[in-house]
Amino acid sequence: MSATVITNIATLVTNDPSLRDSDPLGPVRDAAVVIEGDRVVWTGESSKAPATDNRVDAGGRAVLPGFVDSHSHLVFAGDRTEEFNARMSGRPYSAGGIRTTVAATRAAGDADLEANLTRYLTEALRQGTTTFETKSGYGLTVEDEARALRLAARHTDEVTYLGAHIVAPEFADDPAGYVSLVTGDMLNACAPHARWIDVFCEKGAFDGDQARAILTAGKAKGLHPRIHANQLSYGPGVQLAVELDAASADHCTHLTDADVDALANSSTVATLLPGAEFSTRAAWPDARRLLDAGATVALSTDCNPGSSFTSSVPFCVALAVRDMGMTPDEAVWAATAGGAAALRRTDVGRLVPGAYADLVLLDAPSHVHLAYRPGVPLVTGVWRRGVREV
Ligand SMILES: [Zn+2]
Repeated sequence: MSATVITNIATLVTNDPSLRDSDPLGPVRDAAVVIEGDRVVWTGESSKAPATDNRVDAGGRAVLPGFVDSHSHLVFAGDRTEEFNARMSGRPYSAGGIRTTVAATRAAGDADLEANLTRYLTEALRQGTTTFETKSGYGLTVEDEARALRLAARHTDEVTYLGAHIVAPEFADDPAGYVSLVTGDMLNACAPHARWIDVFCEKGAFDGDQARAILTAGKAKGLHPRIHANQLSYGPGVQLAVELDAASADHCTHLTDADVDALANSSTVATLLPGAEFSTRAAWPDARRLLDAGATVALSTDCNPGSSFTSSVPFCVALAVRDMGMTPDEAVWAATAGGAAALRRTDVGRLVPGAYADLVLLDAPSHVHLAYRPGVPLVTGVWRRGVREV
């Protein structure tokens, strides 16, 4: 198998804390990375790099792990331009807008749904995302949810069953009946295609008892839980996530001190999704408070056509630094190793021997530029599984 060295890297972010004074980013100056097959086999100073068949000169620019976007909703049809325009013109956000996307998604053919999914994956890849999670949740029937998961599973291993996104319109007068469907026939049809189960635990969606029943049923079928928690209001989502050892509690915008403590004393990651607050003009989640308490924080896009229609992790990094109290180092860690932790993965989100060769080359000398130069397309090279894609 032929090896490739990427050399002349001004700043290499490895996320290996053992490399330099326990710095979580494990930065290496004047660095090189050696790739063989789909894996990283060596990292270190350029001058010490082993001989290889192929050589790429990074030109004094920065290399970091590919972004791990651990929260997106990419199996959908239609868009919600009018809703966004109305909201930005003064109308408040309500979870009901999801029904618009449900109707469009149900009406779409498989080929159109997959073409839409592929379009946004390509868009995300160009911006440095090499691992992504995506969910169902716009079908809300047994067949439409299973279809969404089948399509998603062709493109990623990180597939999440979100039949409990909202109560299906047909069950508006019988939410208990819908929970029975989500935990019964729908779960049976969906579980073979998914790794994760998720629930939107929020007023107007599913309460704590319903969410517990749904996630517990999923666990019994071998799915691992994650939760849309505490996004629009205080609620039981975060505590439930910790109680059920969910990999992640996502949003975490409205947290009590007890919620922060629970996250800090658990292996549940707090995944912050600032694209949602940006796109709904809502208050930002307080990343600083979570980090200071000792919680693990991830940053992801929540890419969806209603409340956060961005596929750009760099944009989320810039928001987190500007408005959520994160340092540039913390935000970059959260968007790479943090996302991996939220998916309970150690083979992505870091550049160490044995990890997947998923790399981003920035047209900048350091990762700090992701926040320093917001909105600028700095991603100039992307390798995924050892293959240069961008
Ligand atoms: Zn979401």
